[in-house]
This record gives sequence, structure tokens and C-alpha cells, in this order.
Amino acid sequence: MVFYGDVCVLGLGRAGGSAASLLAGLLAEGRVSSLTVYGGLTSKESDETRRLEELGARVILGTEDVEGCYDLAVASPGIPPASAFFRAAATRSNEIIGEPELAWRESPERWIAVTGTNGKTTTTTLVGALLQAGGRSVKLVGNIGNSVSAEVSGREPGSWFAAELSSFQLEETRLLHPRAACLLNITPDHVDWHGSMEAYAAAKERVFANMGGDDLAVVSREDSWCRAIIGRLKARGVRTCVLDVHGEPDAPCAAFVRDGMLIVRLDGVERELLRVDELPIHGEHNVQNALAASALVLDVGVSPEDVRAGLASFAPLEHRIEPCGELGGVRFVNDSKATNTDSVEKALTAFPAGRILVLLGGHDKGTDLTSMAAAIARICKAAVCFGEAGPRIAQAVRDAVAAGEGSVEILDAPHMAEALQVAFAAAEPGDAVLLSPACSSFDEFDNYVQRGRVFKQLVADLIERSRA
Ligand code: ADP
Repeated sequence: MVFYGDVCVLGLGRAGGSAASLLAGLLAEGRVSSLTVYGGLTSKESDETRRLEELGARVILGTEDVEGCYDLAVASPGIPPASAFFRAAATRSNEIIGEPELAWRESPERWIAVTGTNGKTTTTTLVGALLQAGGRSVKLVGNIGNSVSAEVSGREPGSWFAAELSSFQLEETRLLHPRAACLLNITPDHVDWHGSMEAYAAAKERVFANMGGDDLAVVSREDSWCRAIIGRLKARGVRTCVLDVHGEPDAPCAAFVRDGMLIVRLDGVERELLRVDELPIHGEHNVQNALAASALVLDVGVSPEDVRAGLASFAPLEHRIEPCGELGGVRFVNDSKATNTDSVEKALTAFPAGRILVLLGGHDKGTDLTSMAAAIARICKAAVCFGEAGPRIAQAVRDAVAAGEGSVEILDAPHMAEALQVAFAAAEPGDAVLLSPACSSFDEFDNYVQRGRVFKQLVADLIERSRA
């Protein structure tokens, strides 16, 4: 049993709140001598702060000034390491960690961790579904579901944690040691928070920091940041499963596609899983997610039969290439989660070429559109551009066509609702109308969830009207 001494918590959001509750429980057990919770600048008294005080914590609200000295500080992922709040706590504490690290120290058994720039939620959910298919009990935690700390005290003996961990959470880990973990990809994102691309990639790599030859690190070799990490893992003797959707790695542990079949090889033994066209989730990125999740759960003992059954019955997540109706042979698909150009390019791989009418637009983040526009010109039948970013996207696609990338009809509409009408009018049986907007939604909606729900309602209304 670890004795933590004097502890402070920074932040009272979801992660900070659950870390504070967990530590308040340890106060009662005598494993924490004192607990101070700094809510942050905008924090106010609430039922939660009163309950923490009743449990013996000192709660300090409305300030980021840190006083006293601590053995341990637990920081919420929302507080950047460069901030004055974080630095004040770090200088007054022997050690500063994040909330998942605290949860791991309290309950270190049977963790499977998932990280990467894109695909974390899908892969973590797949890990959960495949463990369940194998008869294991599992909780999805971290960025998905509850914070890990919130699940520690009620954890069923023998159950698994499938933890979706972001770079923010990983940055503040020290001892975290999952039994198996995967890194799907590293592309530029959150560089502001971490300070540089190198620091962002290093934060992701931390997931493997304490793993060794009896664990399994599943890492894609399809981007240069991940490839460099594979090299370092191998040098350290970490058992590493090389993930590649486009080629067969020559390694004892690998996950790849051969002749249309998903295959996971562990210590030289191959398991054939499903054919790509049998997977209920589409697109190359989902093949990667399925391979990663399969490798992770096979390694902790789920049988290939159970993995096959779990993959075959996995339903697409809401707002991620989610089928949402059909009318006159035209399919409608909600991919509202695609808020950047890379996600759109991934989504386009999920449909036959020449049959996609893609709806693009929303709040203009000013990102470079060249690569996405070229893919749209090559693959889509029509691009319907709407909202604030609509004209710039339309121009980028026009430029791609002029550059000889392909031919695609370019249409425009003021808002998403009209864009759906325009796309449906231009669609023929066998086509797919795909909302994959490449933009955040703030010009028209609160967030991508609301945008996706509105899209699905518009589709339902269209189908309903056609029946009337
Ligand atoms: P995250 O939790 O990392 O944001 P999600 O599973 O929610 O990831 O997927 C978000 C978007 O990222 C999806 O809509 C899809 O466009 C894209 N995506 C999903 N999986 C991958 C992957 N393995 N590689 C690249 N892009 C992906």
C-alpha cells in the first residue's frame, strides 16, 4: 500500500474531481495525510466542493495561487504544463502526475491502453467489445466513459480497463505500465499545448515507457514518428507488434492485411480473423483500428473465434461513418466527427470511387486543403460546399480539377440543410451522400455531435416526406 503524504489536486473538472474523490477516500484510510484541492480561477462552491470538505479536504476556489508544500500533486489534463498554475504546483511538490497515473498506482492490473492522434475512441470501444465477446468484464475509461479514477474503487475483481489516453494525460505519467498498449498514428495536433511536435510525439511514446518483453506494444509503421518509436521499443526489448494496413511486416509480432484478410501474428503464430469486406466498419482507418484492437485482445487471451464474432457484430459509432438511412437506393452517411481534412480523406476510402456526394463546410480553420481537394477530385462524384468555409473548399476542389486530379461536380449551398437537398437531387441509386465536413461546426452548431444529430434528423425528414 502506497502512502502518499500531503497531496494537492489541481482542477475540479471531470478528471480533477474524480482524483479528488479517490484521494479523499484515501484520507479516511490514513494513506493521505492531507488533501488540498485547488479548483482553479473560475471554480465556485458546489455540492462537489462541499462533499470534499465534509470528507476532510481543504478546497481552495477562484485562484491559481498555490501555497504550502506537497509530496504529490495531481493535475487535470486541462492544465498545460507551461501554465503558471501547473508550474506553481510543480515547484511546491516532490512529484506531479496526471489523473490516469494516480488511478494506475491504485489499481494497476489488467490495463489495455490506446493512444494516437486519430482513432482512439473507435479502437478503445473495439477493445471493449472484443474483450466482452471473449467473456471478460471491461470498463472503458479515460477520454471515453468515466475518468479512470472514478472507476477504481468499484472495480470488479478480474475486470479489465480499456483506457483511451490522450497526449495530455500521458505527458504526466511516470510509472503507468499497461499490460498491452497501442499507438495508432502521430500527425500534427495539439502542438500548442505541448510546445512542439517532438514533445507531442514524446508524450504519446510515454505509454510504453515502463513496458517490457512480457507486454505487447502495438505500433503502426505507417508514419515516420511511429516508425522511430518502433525502433526505440525494439532496442529496449519491448515486445512490439508492427501494425500496417498496406503491407506485411517481416516481424514475429505483426498485424496486417494479406489478400483481403485481417491477420494478427504473435510470436510467429498467425491468426486469420475476418476479411476486410466482412468488417461492419469501413475505410482503411477502420481496418487499422480493427487490427490494433484484435492484436491487443488476442495477446491477453481472447480466442480468435471470439475476436471474429466481436468484429463481425461491431456497430459503427455515432458520427463516424455512421449509416443513417436510405432513400431511392441512395445511402446517407453521417461522419460529422470528421472535423479535419485527414479524416475526410480516410472516410473517402470507405466507399466505391465515383459514387460519393460529399458535404463539406462549416467553420473555416484556415487549414491547407490541397491534399483533401485532390482526393475529392479523384474519388467523388460531387462535392457540395456549404457554410463559412464553403467557398474556400469549392475553390480548392476547382483548383484540383484544373490541376488534372480528376473530375467532380462542385455544388454550393448556404447551410447544411440545403446542402443535403442539393446532394440528394444530384444523387443516383447506388450513390452515397456523405456528411464529412472537414471543418468544426461553430458557424452553425454547438459541436459536431449536434451537427450530426441535425443531419440525421434532416435525413429522417427527407425519408418521411417521400413516404407522405
Ligand atoms: P479519436 O478518439 O482519436 O478522435 P475517433 O475514433 O473518434 O478518434 O475517430 C475520429 C476520426 O478520426 C474519425 O471520424 C475518422 O475520420 C478518423 N480516424 C479514425 N480512426 C483512424 C485511424 N486509425 N487513422 C486515422 N484516422 C482515423
